Amino acid sequence: MAVQQAHRSQTSTRSTLRAGLSALSLAAGLLCLVPVAQAQGASGESLQAQIDTRAKAVEAQLIAWRRDIHQHPELGNYEVRTSRLVADHLRKLGMEVKTGVAKTGVVGVLKGGKPGPVVALRADMDALPVKERVDVPFASKAKGLFLGKEVDVMHACGHDTHVAILMATAEVLAGMKDQLPGTVKFIFQPAEESPADFEPDGSNMWGAKQMVAEGVLDNPKVDAIFGLHVTSGIESGKLGWRSGPAMAAADQFRIDVKGRQTHGARPWGGIDPIVVASQIVLGLQTIQSRQVDAMLEPSVITVGTIHGGNRMNIVPEKVEMMGTIRTYDEGMKKDIHARMKRTTEAIAASAGAEADFKVLELYNATVNQPALTEKMAPTLKRVAGDGNWMISPKLTASEDFSFYQEKVPGLFFNLGVTPKGTDVNKAPSNHSPEFYVDEAALVNGVRALAGLTVDYMTMAQR
Ligand SMILES: [Zn+2]
Ligand SMILES: [Zn+2]
Repeated sequence: MAVQQAHRSQTSTRSTLRAGLSALSLAAGLLCLVPVAQAQGASGESLQAQIDTRAKAVEAQLIAWRRDIHQHPELGNYEVRTSRLVADHLRKLGMEVKTGVAKTGVVGVLKGGKPGPVVALRADMDALPVKERVDVPFASKAKGLFLGKEVDVMHACGHDTHVAILMATAEVLAGMKDQLPGTVKFIFQPAEESPADFEPDGSNMWGAKQMVAEGVLDNPKVDAIFGLHVTSGIESGKLGWRSGPAMAAADQFRIDVKGRQTHGARPWGGIDPIVVASQIVLGLQTIQSRQVDAMLEPSVITVGTIHGGNRMNIVPEKVEMMGTIRTYDEGMKKDIHARMKRTTEAIAASAGAEADFKVLELYNATVNQPALTEKMAPTLKRVAGDGNWMISPKLTASEDFSFYQEKVPGLFFNLGVTPKGTDVNKAPSNHSPEFYVDEAALVNGVRALAGLTVDYMTMAQR
């Protein structure tokens, strides 16, 4: 989930966006909006009842996996130990397993006993350069290299739980393999938060984008993809989701303002890029507030760094700024980029300075396909139970799950992990050194992913 990262030379942000709903695959969809979990397995017990029994049986192991992975966190593209653990497990379950996808990614394919659609389930495996401050016996003491520097490493975004949940889901579904009308693709991807050796110009690909480029959605071709994220913003065990744009696109921008250096006592002898940069910062803030349609979608422009000058009495030659843009609509995003460029250049020109505006699109918006969301919502409601689910608000954080959703219908939902009785608004957020997971919530992640898989497959049979 959304990220901020430090670059070698300066700070930059990362994130996501993208709205365009890909071709709706209504085929299997709208014909049956009823949850299907009551479909009977060979044993006579409903598939959903079997999922619940099997999920309960694997819960202790799930928590043990989570603690092990939590204690051994690895940064983006260096998830070597984690991916070995995953690959060994999937092989043990009798799956065809591919390793080394997008560096350390692992993909397992489970063929059901009956023909049917291909459902992909995704977990991200990477940790963050954060020093853990949670007092648990399995707290991380790990170190790693981030952008060439040694850092403390922690699963501060909860991707340890995602891996453990998907491993447990694999175990549950593999145990019901003969009854499954379709194929499940288990996708364990690296570097959701970006790689530990990120190129400052963002020219390299990583994580989900790279997995897609390497064909993870083909052979067999994926019909729908599901994924989850644990969050401190929701009470333990509760599920949350929303149809359409759910998480923001994140773009990084950089502005170089070039003036003319002179003595600070005689500013008229040069062109002051610090004053110009200050005007640009304020000018950019008028874009959301005065120029774009406030009723369409929210947007955020943040200037996160300003660097210029080295002495109090020198007007410097140049100022460099970096920041992040968050949007939910592709057209609005492009419009904001154009307005930022125009504002930057025109303000600079008004002072006789020059400005260069560059934007790097990092993550697209996470957009839950409305048809798929509508179709699968009854499953999530059933898994969560009455009063234990919610329609989530939009988040300005980003997720590279969006890159799968650009290609195939996808649904990304949240699982609450803040202990009951704690104020979710005060609980340390994801990416905090105090981010805490109530492990009792995790089994619901297994029930949800397995439930979505089985229901989707069964609905396609009708
Ligand atoms: Zn995350
Ligand atoms: Zn994150």
